[in-house]
Amino acid sequence: MLIDGHGRKVDYLRISLTERCNFRCQYCMPEKPFSWIPKENILSFEELFMFVKVAIDEGVTKIRLTGGEPLLREDIAKFIKMINDYKSDIDLALTTNGYLLGGMARELKDAGLQRINISLDSLKPDIAAKIANKDVLEKVMYGIEQAIDVGLNVKLNMVPLKDINEDEIVDILEFSMSKNVKVRFIEYMENSHANIELRGMHGREILDHILKKYEIKAMGREGSSPSFNYRILQNGYEFGMIDPHKHDFCESCNRIRLTAEGYLIPCLFFDEAMSIAEAIKQKDIKKASEILGEVLKNKPKENRWSENDENLSSRAFYHTGG
Ligand code: SAM
Ligand code: SF4
Repeated sequence: MLIDGHGRKVDYLRISLTERCNFRCQYCMPEKPFSWIPKENILSFEELFMFVKVAIDEGVTKIRLTGGEPLLREDIAKFIKMINDYKSDIDLALTTNGYLLGGMARELKDAGLQRINISLDSLKPDIAAKIANKDVLEKVMYGIEQAIDVGLNVKLNMVPLKDINEDEIVDILEFSMSKNVKVRFIEYMENSHANIELRGMHGREILDHILKKYEIKAMGREGSSPSFNYRILQNGYEFGMIDPHKHDFCESCNRIRLTAEGYLIPCLFFDEAMSIAEAIKQKDIKKASEILGEVLKNKPKENRWSENDENLSSRAFYHTGG
């Protein structure tokens, strides 16, 4: 079992498979970065899998593949199958912008993927294009349809932004209800890479939109999840709210992150990270395990994320995987 320096059980590994992305979301990567991580520094699936086995053997039971856009990594279905063949009861999930999903959903499901989170910020083509800086909606909707059709457990993620998609909070809630999938509203997290003109919405403001039409009941957090659940009293539908501005979910944090080039990051908003790349390239499993132990020991009690200009987080979501 993996226990961090503050006594928390860590059983959730998030792997950012690439920092590259085919969208330029205003809140994440509005501009192409000055440089990408050189391709030769990106760990291959075989190398990543070596670490995945260490993590699973030591107690990880849940793995999420994210990015950047994880579906840009060729052969991702093979990687999913490698993990699934190693431990078939692993809780394996993926987060995607959905653009490439339509043609891949069946293959991903067959490889062993169970759950998929798809970002959906607008149901209006022009607004979706404004947020992603690309005409994306038709393909994303096709991706959502296919994911549901092949039987993946789908969740939708929306980041509400003032004066951009704020008026679609209830529409996206009702769209999710109609598809019988869960939606989670994510508070925009200020960071130095985002478009500086963006204004996010706090959980309370997001709920206010929903309360104009529905009565809701607070249900609480699902285990260690950062998402707080609410139930709509009229029909029993449950949605989630991820509200980091409250700063109250670190105490039950169970996650650790691995980047595409092999940095193990103990916390999304924390600068200390250690690389397992060298150990993995030398097939030194013992060393990789020791580094994992060291990173866990240093996992901070609370994140250092700040929404204030003078101390704005410079961690890029597309690098660490959100
Ligand atoms: N490309 C995939 C996608 O967009 O779903 C996976 C990576 S993305 C970094 C993971 C999640 O982070 C997405 O749901 C996205 O909406 C969210 N995200 C990115 N930047 C954010 C920000 N500044 N504040 C809140 N959520 C953000
Ligand atoms: Fe790409 Fe996802 Fe970031 Fe949008 S949120 S730019 S889709 S990584």
